[in-house]
Amino acid sequence: MYNVFQATEENIARAAGVIKNGGLVALPTETVYGLGANVFDAKAVAKIFAVKKRPTFDPLISHIADFDALPEYVETNERALALAKRFWPGPFTMVLKRKGHAAGVDLACSGLPTATVRMPAHPVAAALIRQSGVPIVAPSANLFKSVSPTTAQHVYDGLGENVDMILDGGACRVGVESTILDVTGDKPVLLRAGGTTLEDIEEFLGEKVLVSHGEPDRPSAPGQLLRHYAPGHKLRINAEKPEANEFYIGFGDREGELNLSPKGDLCEAAANLFAFLRKADALAGDKTLAMAPIPETGLGLAINDRIRRAAHD
Ligand code: AMP
Ligand code: MG
Repeated sequence: MYNVFQATEENIARAAGVIKNGGLVALPTETVYGLGANVFDAKAVAKIFAVKKRPTFDPLISHIADFDALPEYVETNERALALAKRFWPGPFTMVLKRKGHAAGVDLACSGLPTATVRMPAHPVAAALIRQSGVPIVAPSANLFKSVSPTTAQHVYDGLGENVDMILDGGACRVGVESTILDVTGDKPVLLRAGGTTLEDIEEFLGEKVLVSHGEPDRPSAPGQLLRHYAPGHKLRINAEKPEANEFYIGFGDREGELNLSPKGDLCEAAANLFAFLRKADALAGDKTLAMAPIPETGLGLAINDRIRRAAHD
């Protein structure tokens, strides 16, 4: 693992140099590990798609570290600015209208008239973005459609030496990807449930948010692909109890070989989700996987979204 480095000040500075020189850096964020590149460097952005084997119609999120660093290629509005003030830094991404046509940005946005922006809460991510001096596009640092990485080791297991530098900042605190909210229209629309809860967003806005139920074939929303985050074994969800040939991932009182959160805490379950899917995959042998029901509230929305896609065949 010659490309894995502790996220020390010195190594973050080195990583910023890699980004500036068109390289790829895997970085810890509070959601999952990201595979980062300079958004203005079309070659570097292209490398992200190549290394992940991600189709170029699946656009990338730009990550910033400061409010006054909102990229010049997005148009804001009053609602967007208010949401940013409330939920940034954090697991919250907004879809905004886009301006101009820089080559890297065009590719990162899959040619769409919109761009997505997030300000992550992880200090290593923030330091790297600041020192790089550019927005960093960073999809999850894994192969397309596979389980997302929540440790540096997961990144290495999936991408190996195809990444110039992997910054190890420990396990991710939130464990599921950011919530994506489209704020380009009259009504805000939830495109992906994630680390910021729908309840919190609606309470803050004082209005109902429309929930997009996914148009898996529409290029603007590939985060909504039916099969995604998939483990190697078949997975059955909402399983009250395991069948004879199943490896059971429990939740709360439903015990299993693994338990996402014995005390039934959805935050803990989200933080464990991807790592436990990997563990279950490694331990299940000839068995298939089954997972206990997860309540459809708070972070449960994001968890259920991920496992529905993980279970889809
Ligand atoms: P991730 O898989 O975490 O990198 O999130 C990327 C997802 O964000 C994509 O699959 C889209 O659903 C959404 N997204 C990213 N960029 C855009 C964009 N420019 N316009 C609309 N949706 C976007
Ligand atoms: Mg991903």
